[in-house]
Amino acid sequence: MEKRTHILHTAKVNNNCPECYSTDGLEFIFSQEEVENKLYSKAKREVIETLHCQTCHQDIFPVNWTEDIELVYDYNLKLAKPKSSGIKLKPLAYLLILTDVLIIASIIYYLV
Ligand SMILES: [Zn+2]
Repeated sequence: MEKRTHILHTAKVNNNCPECYSTDGLEFIFSQEEVENKLYSKAKREVIETLHCQTCHQDIFPVNWTEDIELVYDYNLKLAKPKSSGIKLKPLAYLLILTDVLIIASIIYYLV
């Protein structure tokens, strides 16, 4: 299984950083993980949010968010459109399914 992270949406916000009080360092990053192997890929349902301050280089965890940050978070979360979390088959999977069908078809053919 390989893991990939897709960035869905980023937003620079001008709220005060709870750590260094700078108003021009905070940035929201919304991402979604996708696992894949040779046969299929599947995106996880949940969207992961990271709030990072580029001034003090710290990640600001939700417990430290102010009310204003939460409002901005809600607004931006709506802009982050996650990929569908269904299983997407890869060409190799289709090839295997097709091979199975052919094998079963030929078994039936010889039995009949
Ligand atoms: Zn900061």
